[in-house]
Amino acid sequence: MLDIKINQQQIEMLQTDLLKWFEKAKRDLPFRQTRNPYYIWISEIMAQQTQIDTLIPYYNRFIATFPTVFSLAQASVDEVIKTWEGLGYYSRARNLHQAAQIIVSDYEGNMPETFAKLLKLPGIGPYTGGAIASIAFNEKVSAVDGNVLRVISRYGNSFDDIGDAKTKKRMTAFIEGILPDAAGDFNEALMELGAVICTPQSPKCLICPIRSGCQSHAAGTTEQLPVKKKKTKQLTKKMEVGIVKQNSCLFFVRRPDSGLLSGLWSFPITETVAGHGQDIKKKLAENFHELNEPIFIGTNRHVFSHIVWEMSIYGFDLDNAIREPVSTSHLVSNQAHTRTDYQFKALSEIDDLALPVAFSKLLDQLTNF
Ligand code: SF4
Repeated sequence: MLDIKINQQQIEMLQTDLLKWFEKAKRDLPFRQTRNPYYIWISEIMAQQTQIDTLIPYYNRFIATFPTVFSLAQASVDEVIKTWEGLGYYSRARNLHQAAQIIVSDYEGNMPETFAKLLKLPGIGPYTGGAIASIAFNEKVSAVDGNVLRVISRYGNSFDDIGDAKTKKRMTAFIEGILPDAAGDFNEALMELGAVICTPQSPKCLICPIRSGCQSHAAGTTEQLPVKKKKTKQLTKKMEVGIVKQNSCLFFVRRPDSGLLSGLWSFPITETVAGHGQDIKKKLAENFHELNEPIFIGTNRHVFSHIVWEMSIYGFDLDNAIREPVSTSHLVSNQAHTRTDYQFKALSEIDDLALPVAFSKLLDQLTNF
């Protein structure tokens, strides 16, 4: 049972005051000038882990490169990832690409128009599905993100833990029960209020359009809400990275199609077991018949959302070793595109790879190698 204290009158105030405010005060964003579901979809996927102000140039570039779902579906996954470069969380770009291909093959290029059908596409969960269905197709369905959870927790003075999946489920059902006919505007207005007025720190209650019905404002508990209990600690992993150099070119591998940084190019990397570069040397034996002893280059650290990599970097200079060509028997088919999973690249060509930051930040350490 949701611990929320809002009566019918406060619900009506929330609906009317919020919508009135949103109509006048909403930010002028490029994806608010359209009801085109394709554009709304792209903007919502970008907004999942990126602030709205930050994503605008990326959104404009993406839409200019792939103006329709057909152009996105026809592009190679590498082109899509390259255009996504800088936004991080690359699985979003891969899912967009895959979903675009499904929309073209199964829906003749038209975005599915219901929440239920949208949920079947890769990368679309309840929040994104709700946002597209309500904003583009005006379906009466909620879109509950962190902003919305914060606003409703405060408005109803709820001390339920918003990090708990059960709270989110109940909160979603509660919002669904109070959605007005203009569900898309109402969802957007809740998100907007959370982004610009009812912010995590120092909410601007004095200028808030729904202050008169806000229960936490009346109770003086705004600063304590929402309740979000701490998650478990990040996992730290010790890793060995292999930098293989030949004729001033560096060796790159494509990461597996699932898991962290899936499908992206990287330096060879493996978990540390024996240490001293022996683990990565063993892994590289898959590609090189004979390697010299690893040269220690340095260490680096990269923090993902749930994992920290503590990386020891080792160099292997093939100019001083017995040269063996990289196997070319690893050509695999990726749906419409044939791709290779290994390649040497000159430093001047590395930009083409859209190398994730976890690896591109190591390049500065290689100047003396
Ligand atoms: S009055 Fe303050 S706490 Fe309540 S919704 Fe508005 S900004 Fe948030």
